[in-house]
Amino acid sequence: MNKISNNDFLALTRANEYFLTPFSIDHPQCDIDILATGVIYFCPKNIIDNQRKKAIVISCAIHGNETAPIEICNDIISDLLSNNINLQHPTLFIFGNPPAINIGERFVEENLNRLFSGMRSSDNNDYDPTLNKERVRAAELEKLVTEFYQKHPDAERTHYDLHTAIRDSAHEKFAVYPFIHGKPWHKEQFEIVRSMGVTTFLLMQKPATTFSYYSSNIHGAHSFTIELGKVRPFGENDQTKFAASKQTIINLISGQEVDIHQFDASNYQFMSVHKEVVKHNDSFKLTFSDDVANFTAFNQGDVFAIEDDVEIKADTNGEAIVFPNANVANGQRAMLTVIPVNIDNNLV
Ligand SMILES: [Zn+2]
Repeated sequence: MNKISNNDFLALTRANEYFLTPFSIDHPQCDIDILATGVIYFCPKNIIDNQRKKAIVISCAIHGNETAPIEICNDIISDLLSNNINLQHPTLFIFGNPPAINIGERFVEENLNRLFSGMRSSDNNDYDPTLNKERVRAAELEKLVTEFYQKHPDAERTHYDLHTAIRDSAHEKFAVYPFIHGKPWHKEQFEIVRSMGVTTFLLMQKPATTFSYYSSNIHGAHSFTIELGKVRPFGENDQTKFAASKQTIINLISGQEVDIHQFDASNYQFMSVHKEVVKHNDSFKLTFSDDVANFTAFNQGDVFAIEDDVEIKADTNGEAIVFPNANVANGQRAMLTVIPVNIDNNLV
């Protein structure tokens, strides 16, 4: 019988960063399969017939240096293995990029969160899925997520992709709600994510190459990229800041529901993308320093960035910056700007 020593799935993952032969674990309450390195599937042996059915994906380490979500997931996996959590719903945990975890970097060769669905769409014939190991991993994760959801065809699909951000944020925690093509936003999902301590939502208006857009668009999952705080090395995360997020995930997988009647739009900051700033060449530079926080608002006419002597300016008062990073490759997004938006008329 195979086992995970000390119930430490992260240690097993880090010791097998590119490949792990799949195996199963005997457990009194759950079927447990290690499907690939960093990917572990739990399914209750007895799913109650009349209960609401969900299939839940919890991913972290899509960026290898974002340690707080990795620690949260590893703790929960450990508690599941030692039968300390009463699992009610099939759940797939994913450590996205194990080699990047091992070197303490965001990625090894290419940002994994730019390599999902959109990159392989029919209008992108140039995409070589074998070019590097991150591309191979993106395809593997898509396959495993597909098989997971197919295994539970009548379950409601959800996916929470957990991250921490490179820079400080004026809103410490925030979530990206991927583009849902005009479908309504879900109060219940807002309440679930709010119970993680997240009240700021960035509502995207176009397809993306992220993991959360992939599961939302291809599988119809309620899916989010959730930024839980700031990047720090292993062991340096203040666990009290992540306690609500961890408890929310435990509640989710053990079948405890949020109260949708608690939803009140005034508890939230809903933001929509105003501009996507793409870096075209090496002359691109941001006008503000690295310690300016995400969601810092600018005034109309303020200059965000300069490229080839062209100034990129705020169009309106309150236009705020998100994910600025002048070090991206040429042709990639270097920053978003966002503005507040009212979503009352498209909520269920
Ligand atoms: Zn990240």
